[in-house]
Amino acid sequence: MIETYILRIGHRHDRDQRVTTHVGLTGRALGAKGMYLAADDRGVVESIKSVARRFGGDYHIEDGVQWRQCIREFQESGGTVVHLTMYGLRIQDVIGGIRAASKVLVIVGAEKVPGEIYGLADYNVGVTNQPHSEIAGLAVFLDQLYEGKELECEFPDADIRVIPCERGKNTVEL
Ligand code: SAM
Repeated sequence: MIETYILRIGHRHDRDQRVTTHVGLTGRALGAKGMYLAADDRGVVESIKSVARRFGGDYHIEDGVQWRQCIREFQESGGTVVHLTMYGLRIQDVIGGIRAASKVLVIVGAEKVPGEIYGLADYNVGVTNQPHSEIAGLAVFLDQLYEGKELECEFPDADIRVIPCERGKNTVEL
């Protein structure tokens, strides 16, 4: 699988904690390797780490990231930078080209994304050209990138595993 990392920009400490946490958790569940947060927020970091500890896998989560440096270093190391935006090219037209990348950094915004990001990204991609949410955009992007294979991801060394069941909740402590 292509290695994918998320860069979350524009996070506001009090307003965006829940959504940013869900961006990180959605990325983890759907095959991303980690999330860089371009803000200081230990609360978000700790809540994602706590889920990752209990449910397994190896997810990188880092706050206090400088977004310009993160983008530059990712590109210098051979990665492809994809900015999710309702103004971008249609995902169905560009996802084939993106699948040729060795690794992908997916940028998602919160409120207003700095104009510079549009120029720095290798691809500006719209998951539809309608306004919606960074969580939804990320989920559809990862599913399109991995063509459904992310649904088979394993999360080793978990403390807890969910046993799928028709009704109710079934978990095992490992
Ligand atoms: N209005 C803000 C702007 O123009 O910069 C964006 C607000 S939106 C709630 C937050 C994030 O959701 C965006 O930065 C983008 O990453 C993502 N997003 C929203 N709609 C999208 C779409 N149709 N396709 C891809 N990403 C989208």
